[in-house]
Amino acid sequence: MTSRIQRYLADEQPQTPCLVVDLEAVAAAYESLQRALPMATIYYAMKANPAQPVLQLLAGMGSSFDCASIYEIEQALSAGAPVERLSFGNTIKKQDHIARARAWGVDMFAFDSEAELTKLAAVAPGAKVYCRLVMDGSGADWPLARKFGCEIEMAYDLMLKARDLGLDPYGLSFHVGSQQRDVGQWDMAVGRTAMLFTNLAEAGVNLRMVNIGGGFTATYRTDAPNQNDHATAVIAALNKHFGNRMPEVIVEPGRSMVGDAGIIQAEVVLISKKSYEDEKRWVYLDIGKFGGLIETMDEAIKYRLRTPHDDESVGKSPVIIAGPTCDEVDVLYRNCNYELPDSLAVGDKIQILSTGAYTTTYCSVAFNGLPPLQTYCI
Ligand SMILES: *Cc1c(COP(=O)(O)O)cnc(C)c1O
Repeated sequence: MTSRIQRYLADEQPQTPCLVVDLEAVAAAYESLQRALPMATIYYAMKANPAQPVLQLLAGMGSSFDCASIYEIEQALSAGAPVERLSFGNTIKKQDHIARARAWGVDMFAFDSEAELTKLAAVAPGAKVYCRLVMDGSGADWPLARKFGCEIEMAYDLMLKARDLGLDPYGLSFHVGSQQRDVGQWDMAVGRTAMLFTNLAEAGVNLRMVNIGGGFTATYRTDAPNQNDHATAVIAALNKHFGNRMPEVIVEPGRSMVGDAGIIQAEVVLISKKSYEDEKRWVYLDIGKFGGLIETMDEAIKYRLRTPHDDESVGKSPVIIAGPTCDEVDVLYRNCNYELPDSLAVGDKIQILSTGAYTTTYCSVAFNGLPPLQTYCI
């Protein structure tokens, strides 16, 4: 996997830290999801990695885009995505931004509250709207839980209200939680959605779309179901609960489209101990939480690491891995038993694997004067 990245790093020796994204791997991820879920339209959740070459590639392959802000909408348009293939999927939008998106021609909007519906009715009359259902995020390493969505009783009322306000009550959405490790979550989520379809149909509102969000995985240290395991569970759930009344299906993958396609190259800046008795070495890298690795918060996402010494028969021992900045929260892994080779030395390059998703966009702006994480798309 990603031998092109290894070659690029060896040939170009770019300054570290940097992220290298293999566009062929992104294309392969898009194609394999299309094969696995042929009934679904893919809306790439561009917050995962909005690098222009990634967006251009996916736009060229026919992807649609899930945009979280008018700025992402602009980026998708400038990458060549037609406006009909954009969804304004954030449930929290300024009314002024809804109006601007509408003026550009965006026709699909998410909401999960009455106040948001009021804004949509005011400045985007007639637009397709879909209501997001709340999920508890269980089983997910990065849960997105409870902040978004509403309970089904409220969603029922809001969809009737959407119709009465002159909007097009188009469908329902949910997100089972990012890096979802329990494929059993799909049955419950799809089942609740289908039940609401039925109840609303009885009230005269015929929904046409179900948006199953993201949740598909990248490859980290902790075992997780792969894309096909997820797709199998999704299809089983859709067939079970919708049967021959299958609506349009939208899927919004972020992590699984770009995660495994990227590698961060970093450098060991310092190796030290705090006392002569200290059992663990501290290994400080030139990238940390503020350089784009914020998903290590609470050690939620455990990246796989590669060092130049992995093939040697030297011993390994426990380490605490930290970033370079002057903030005590800038520690990546302290409790989850990372071990690195005893021969690891200051100046060694370390590769942080599967870092194509949720890294560059989470990088801080010049904390301690450090430049933003550079991306090379190859
Ligand atoms: C972040 C997000 C996604 C992408 O989720 P992944 O788990 O990264 O695939 C999809 N839809 C919405 C609404 C999101 O907020």
